[in-house]
Order: sequence, then C-alpha cells, then structure tokens
Amino acid sequence: MKVLKFGGTSVGSAARMQKLLDIINPNERRIVVLSAMSGTTNSLVEIGQAYLTSDKAKAASLISSLKQQYEAVVKQLFSNPEYQAQAKEVIDHHFGLLSGFANDLFTSIEDKIILAQGELLSTTLYHIYLKEIGVPSVLLPALDFMRIDEDNEPIVDHITTHLQPILDKHADVNLFITQGFICRNAFGEIDNLRRGGSDYTASLIGAGIHAEEVQIWTDIDGMHNNDPRIVNNTKPIAQLSFDEAAELAYFGAKILHPQSVFPAQKYKIPVRLLNTMDPQAAGTLITNTSEKDKIKSIAAKDGITAIKIQSSRMLLAHGFLRRVFEVFERYRTSIDMITTSEVAVSLTIDDTTYLDEINKELGKFGTVDVDINHTIICVVGDFAAEKNGYAARVLDAIKHVPVRMISYGGSDHNLSLLVKTEQKTEVLRSLHSRLF
Ligand code: ASP
Ligand code: MG
Repeated sequence: MKVLKFGGTSVGSAARMQKLLDIINPNERRIVVLSAMSGTTNSLVEIGQAYLTSDKAKAASLISSLKQQYEAVVKQLFSNPEYQAQAKEVIDHHFGLLSGFANDLFTSIEDKIILAQGELLSTTLYHIYLKEIGVPSVLLPALDFMRIDEDNEPIVDHITTHLQPILDKHADVNLFITQGFICRNAFGEIDNLRRGGSDYTASLIGAGIHAEEVQIWTDIDGMHNNDPRIVNNTKPIAQLSFDEAAELAYFGAKILHPQSVFPAQKYKIPVRLLNTMDPQAAGTLITNTSEKDKIKSIAAKDGITAIKIQSSRMLLAHGFLRRVFEVFERYRTSIDMITTSEVAVSLTIDDTTYLDEINKELGKFGTVDVDINHTIICVVGDFAAEKNGYAARVLDAIKHVPVRMISYGGSDHNLSLLVKTEQKTEVLRSLHSRLF
C-alpha cells in the first residue's frame, strides 16, 4: 500500500481533480490524502476570525463568495446531473453549517470545526467524481482514526487500530480517499494538525499502516538545493536523509511540513516529493541513508529575532543557561539557534509574542540586546565531524557579509548562520555559486 498526498494546488480546480487519476494509478492499492482546494483554508480562517470578532455580516459575505467558487467547481467537475445534484447537496450541507454558526456561541471549538470543512469538501467531491466516472473507491473519515493527545501529539497506534481494520474489510478495493490536516483531539473535538498539516497526515498514515512508501505531490519537482525564487539554476535534490530533510523543512524549505518527517523516519517509510505538473520528474527521495561528505542544500528562514544576554555573573557560574532557558520555557517560546561565550549567550526565536515579557525577565541576569529582522541561513549536508573544511568553505563564500551568529556541530547535518535579512539574497547567491 502506498500513501499519496495531494496539496491544495493539485486539487485546486475541477480540471486538476480530473487529472489526478493519471498519477494515482487505481490498479494498485493506495490511500489518497487530499488537502483543501487552494485558498479554501485561508478563507475559512477569515470566516472564523469574522465570527470571533462578532462580525456576522463579514462572515456571511465571505461564506457566500466561497460557496460561489464551489458551485462553479461542481458545474465543471460533473457532467451527469445525478452526481451534480449529489455534489450540490454536499456543498449546501457544508456551507449551511458554516452559516449556522451565526446563531450560536462562537469559541475556538467552533473555529476548528470551520477549518475542517475544506478537506471534508475536497475529499467528498472527489469521491463523488470517482463514482461518476465508475472508479470504485472508499471515503475514509480521518476523524475516525486521526487523533492527537493532550500535548497535541498524534497517536500512531490509534491509526493502526482504527484504520487498518477498515482497510482489511475492503480487501477488494484499491483506492481509499481521506482528508489531510483534520483530526480529533483528546476531548474528542474536531481539531487539526496545524497549517500545512496534510503532509503530516500522510506520513502518520504511512507509519500507522506500515505503508510501502509515502508520496507528497506538490507543484515543484522535489526539494531544491536553494530557494528557486531567489537563486537561479537551483536543482532538485535526488536523495536526502530524514535528518537532512527535517533540518531543511524546519529552516525554510516550504515544500514539506517539518514534523511530517518524524513518523516516516521512526517507522522507516521512504518519502518521495513529487511534482503534479511533471509527474515523470524524479523528485526527491527521503530515506534513512545520507550521502557521505556532501553539502546538499541551502535554506533560509526569515523573521528571526536575536537576543544577546551578557553578564559577568555567567563567568565560571553553573546553572546560568538553565535559568535563561527557563524564561523561554515559561513563555512557551522555542529557541532555534544558540551560541555562547564565557560571558554572553546569544540565541534566536521566531515567535515574538512574549518578547517584551522575556526581555524583562532576562534583564535580571544582565544586559540584554535584541536585534529584529534577521534570517537564519542553514547549510545542510553530511558533515562528518572528523573531516575538515566544511566550515571554511561556507565562511569563505560569505566573507564579505557581516555574520551575527554561527552554529556548527549541533548535528552532523547543519551549519547555521544568522545574518540581517537585507543580506539574505546576497548570502544565498554567494553560497550557491561557491558550494555547488
Ligand atoms: N488545508 C490545510 C492548510 O492550508 C492543510 C494543508 O493544506 O496541508 O494549511
Ligand atoms: Mg503544504
């Protein structure tokens, strides 16, 4: 069994949905995970916001324009009036539910129900389309098997015990369709795996049923060795290890949801990143093996704030870092990069929600400097600790640019640099021309 996930643009129009079967190959057993049609989740977020701020008129107008888009899709997707009527009923049901929230108390629970409608719509419409063209398939409700615990961690066992029996029951069916992104939480309420979470769904299902392979279909031919929007002549990376893929996904390569690497890694399920627009392209294969001694890719993450705490009290003292970290823990703010000297520690965060509070508390330990508008540049590859030259090559390529922080040796796969965001383009291009 393979798990194939198609993102928002891959199901972004009726024409796109009609093309999916060319890729899916329903002669073999597959679970197809679909995102919401592109733009839908953003619209649902806006609808939720409108309700949360009690702007019912705005919610109503957003709902009606989104509904019109779906009505147009239904007209194009179906040719048989019987299936068109079924699809119309589905749309009326989901949009009726969205409108119905105007009459009730609106909390974050209702908000999450709203966010779930995009994937419910795309999968149900696609399922009806398969019926129309006579391809047998089973629609699997993700809410029946995808669950997160009290810490918002997905429960892989729950997938195994709740999904596998359904698959076994339908031994004669090849094609299963299900929703990405959505799940139930520890209270049984409808919840989700965070934005971009459909990749995570695919990887979790792959882990839960010990799939042969997970394929993530997007609109680019794999993970590239640099940001193609900024640098010319970037190339898809043929092979990555799970660790390398995790670093790249976290530090800026937008193509894959960072957490989705871990279930596949733990259960040793290969992940392939493939391009719906160019299905023959090789894409990127992510497995347990890393190619030795190779610089693989460069990625950048913007919106980084650097914080430096300088204190002579740190000199020869123990427990200082613990106290610093505890401040970040109290404000649930995660640290990306860290460098220390004997009298100072510099670290970076990307979530500045509690920056003022953190700043104030850190002020008790020493002098605090905050620098906003920075970018982490992350060079990923296999840097065997006993080999020399990697750091020198990287730093040599950017010797004309001021560097705020350098982090190397945290893992064998990553060298990170912190620079001003205004220098990002220059750094990405220089590194690209010197390293590849
Ligand atoms: N539809 C969700 C989002 O836009 C999940 C996904 O597409 O991966 O974030
Ligand atoms: Mg995505």
